[in-house]
Amino acid sequence: MDSIQASDSIIHFNEPSYALLNKYVNGGNFSKIFVLVDTNTHTYCLANFLERLETDLSIEIIEIEAGEIHKTIDTCVGVWNALSDLDADRKSLMINVGGGVVTDLGGFAACTFKRGISYLNIPTTLLSMVDASVGGKTGVDLGHLKNQIGVISAPDIIIIDTNYLDTLPKSQMRSGLAEMLKHGLISDENYWNKFKDLKSLNLKDLDQLIYESILIKKHVVDIDPFEQNLRKTLNYGHTLGHAIESYFLSKPDKIDLLHGEAIAIGMVLASYISTKLTGFPEAVNNEIKILFKGFYGHVEILESEYADIIELLKYDKKNEHGNINFVLLEAIGKPKIDCLVDDNIIIDAFKFYNS
Ligand code: NAD
Ligand code: ZN
Repeated sequence: MDSIQASDSIIHFNEPSYALLNKYVNGGNFSKIFVLVDTNTHTYCLANFLERLETDLSIEIIEIEAGEIHKTIDTCVGVWNALSDLDADRKSLMINVGGGVVTDLGGFAACTFKRGISYLNIPTTLLSMVDASVGGKTGVDLGHLKNQIGVISAPDIIIIDTNYLDTLPKSQMRSGLAEMLKHGLISDENYWNKFKDLKSLNLKDLDQLIYESILIKKHVVDIDPFEQNLRKTLNYGHTLGHAIESYFLSKPDKIDLLHGEAIAIGMVLASYISTKLTGFPEAVNNEIKILFKGFYGHVEILESEYADIIELLKYDKKNEHGNINFVLLEAIGKPKIDCLVDDNIIIDAFKFYNS
């Protein structure tokens, strides 16, 4: 496992990464460094990162509150103000140390401050390592609507240091795992098969799988950075997954579902829908349900709730011209984009999930 070189960003993996990071930081004619953290990555990750960063440049720390509710333009204004107060100029370098909230918001703040300063990502959650920090999508939420404001602009470097995962809560590990499973389902049967033998979420089992997951995401976004076709396949499980996520968030009596836990259900539903519309094999669909329930358990969704969840599909950002577009599977590794799905099949999919 070493560096993954691609069109816009260079992704460095584990141990040799910091030497390459230091070379980049010190060779880039930068004036000053700004490290963005949230309250948790300040506690758990910052000291480790600063120990490895070797430079004579001055370093300022900017901290934001942790959590999706703080991925807002107000928080971003706070970051812009901090940069301005601390005399950031166009040669300043922003380093985002955190999960997807920090890399999304920090990337957006950097891309827009003084029309754009250089930035790099040090993802510290599993989800941000295999997904959020790779691909150049940056941005903030607008009220309850996710990622409505943003730009696509890739960081110069991404450092993947899986040691940061030591302090990550298990539920957050499971959430990130869902995106890795998705990468297998949409692009590589061999990769998918490796999860059947995964015994735990320990790092020694996961390191190689994380590396391969990043390669898959990188491959997809390099071919289609602006989501015209292939990148849409990364939305597998997300159409219903997002609706389930929003529904559970809006109901105080429902359990808290993290993003990955919701799209895990979305992927089981999409696999069932695939058996009805693309000829996806039923045996594989059953295997997917068993594997996902093994990792995520069963989440109760009542029959009386199906209609409300389906209603939420209307708000999906990926809809075009009023159509709800699903990504389905023809086979593992063979996704089909822009599929229209009847509500009755979605209801049958919920029943299958519950059975
Ligand atoms: P997050 O950034 O909120 O991190 C989850 C929690 O873990 C937070 O409380 C955080 O403070 C904490 N944390 C982070 N690293 C830690 C560590 N090493 N030890 C202990 N705690 C730690 O959430 P996330 O799941 O990383 O990312 C979700 C965000 O990513 C969403 O806003 C989503 O929209 C975005 N996203 C973006 C893309 C993209 O392409 N840009 C793709 C997928 C998701
Ligand atoms: Zn996702």
